[in-house]
Amino acid sequence: MTIKVKVLERPVGEVSYLRATVKGLALTFKHLVDPHKVTVQYPEERWDISPRWRGTHRMLTTEDGKAKCVACGLCPTVCPANCIKLVPGEDEDGNRYPLVFEIDEFRCIFCGYCQEVCPEEAIHVGRHYENAEYSRDRFVYDLERLTSQSHAVCEMWDPADPKGE
Ligand code: SF4
Ligand code: SF4
Repeated sequence: MTIKVKVLERPVGEVSYLRATVKGLALTFKHLVDPHKVTVQYPEERWDISPRWRGTHRMLTTEDGKAKCVACGLCPTVCPANCIKLVPGEDEDGNRYPLVFEIDEFRCIFCGYCQEVCPEEAIHVGRHYENAEYSRDRFVYDLERLTSQSHAVCEMWDPADPKGE
């Protein structure tokens, strides 16, 4: 797609803003009566978001309900926003698991690197955006909150199917 740049001349001398105001109002009224206007009556109506939407994280679980994470440390290492906190633990059989796993959704830039890098396909960015909160600390999702999310997860970009068809 070609991006067009419209260069505007700065007016010289005294100018009336009446014409610009009338033009602006005309544009507003044109949209008021436009039968093709796109207005979504949120929250009754919602957009169909892309399968590649990267939003609120979700930690997938095993059949017995445990987080799939094996505390390998890759996602906090790769995270460019440094918003994943991981404290690894190890059981008596030497299996690693997260003692603490938190993601600060407020700092996250939703790049999806954590999902791409995870060897267990445990952590995912999700097709979900309704995560407003009243305080910053509520944006820190702990393991329990991450595993209790039930929204669909993001489909990563596939080089074999670049347009996602
Ligand atoms: S989506 Fe990106 S910024 Fe957000 S937690 Fe994952 S790696 Fe970090
Ligand atoms: S990359 Fe996956 S397995 Fe490794 S610490 Fe992150 S969520 Fe856990």
